[in-house]
Amino acid sequence: MNRSVLLLLSLCCLQPVLAANCQPVEAIQPGFYARQGQDGVVFDTQNIANTGFIIGSQAVAVIDTGGSPEEGAALLCAIRQLTDLPIRYVINTHVHPDHLFGNSAFRAEGASFIGHSNLPRALALLGETYVERAQAAGLKVTTDDLVPPDQTVEGSLTLDLGERRLRLDAVGQSHTDNDLTVLDEKTNTRWLGDLLFHQHIPVMGGSGSVNGWLETIQTLETQDADEHLIPGHGPLQAAALPALEAERGYFEHMRAAVRAWLQADKPLAEGVDSIGQQEAAAWPMAQEYHKRNISYLYSELEWE
Ligand SMILES: [Zn+2]
Repeated sequence: MNRSVLLLLSLCCLQPVLAANCQPVEAIQPGFYARQGQDGVVFDTQNIANTGFIIGSQAVAVIDTGGSPEEGAALLCAIRQLTDLPIRYVINTHVHPDHLFGNSAFRAEGASFIGHSNLPRALALLGETYVERAQAAGLKVTTDDLVPPDQTVEGSLTLDLGERRLRLDAVGQSHTDNDLTVLDEKTNTRWLGDLLFHQHIPVMGGSGSVNGWLETIQTLETQDADEHLIPGHGPLQAAALPALEAERGYFEHMRAAVRAWLQADKPLAEGVDSIGQQEAAAWPMAQEYHKRNISYLYSELEWE
């Protein structure tokens, strides 16, 4: 056997073999791992939200756990292939089920669950409906999998993972009324959850606000331009300013178009089929989400 064949063999066979239910993750920064979700619609498609974890010298923090206990278990498996350190925190960026139905997989780890101060209320309001919809879609989820936060954030909270501090910031009503961002100070990387959709049409949540979200984007744009941003959906690590600018452009355009529609006293039913169709078409997943965005914007802006 010649040397190149031997080399090939050793390359193939030294690769870590992932167990069937173990989530492949990529290192986006030293000690900071994530897996990119795939484009899809909540409940119809699995593994759609970006999920991740950060390893300090003493402990691990998880950011979002995926859309089912199975997804959570696959993420836990990925963590355990890299470290035996305790998982001290599970941070949920917001209430949407594609981001937190994996929580229950981390219960036995003794982690503290953390979310925005509005998250308990949002989960109490929406949790059971989400479970019913997930079950109808064939997912193995029960009300036992609804894990409310043990600790909530109003303003900011700093967590210490050992030689690594994370700053959590609760933001005002934007994608939902319970959005939380996570800044890894060591690598200047900020996980934005669904405050940022990258190469994916931005999706307005039921408790969100276009006016609030645009204000949040403006605040984010004036922060450190060297920050690495991690979106809730789409490719991991977005070039901060262009990604935020694209999202702002979509919402500014749609807000103006919906306001004009309202001023002309036209009904929503016609609006959802025509407002901003052309501009939205450039975004992946526009077919699935644009009309719904318009109807949310309409109901928010008709009271201005
Ligand atoms: Zn969301």
